Amino acid sequence: MKSKISKSEEEWKKKLSPEEFHILREKGTEAPFTGKYVSFNKKGKYVCAGCGNELFDSNTKFDSHCGWPSFHDTKKEAVNLNDDNSHGMHRIEVTCKKCGGHLGHIFDDGPKPTGKRYCINSISLKFKDK
Ligand code: FE
Repeated sequence: MKSKISKSEEEWKKKLSPEEFHILREKGTEAPFTGKYVSFNKKGKYVCAGCGNELFDSNTKFDSHCGWPSFHDTKKEAVNLNDDNSHGMHRIEVTCKKCGGHLGHIFDDGPKPTGKRYCINSISLKFKDK
């Protein structure tokens, strides 16, 4: 088990930018095609913008044309999946396993080998060169 990070909302507010706080802590969604990692193809890894937890490898990133960075797999034990019934629909929310930050949602229309599409807000991510 990774050690969990637990901060009060006040502490998160101090640590994060207003945009990061809105998405990571208030489960917001950035507007489609606006995020800095939508069309971004460098080799490296993506970590949680809230806590630095390693979430995705660039090898699993693909162009989904959905307007958000998309991955077909995560790093091992990186995320939690939670039922989300907001906005009058059922979706599965993806959160950081370490800090609980909201990352995005997962869908079943991704490419092989997993068939999954992790649709993730750029603001929830920070890219690290290999
Ligand atoms: Fe995190």
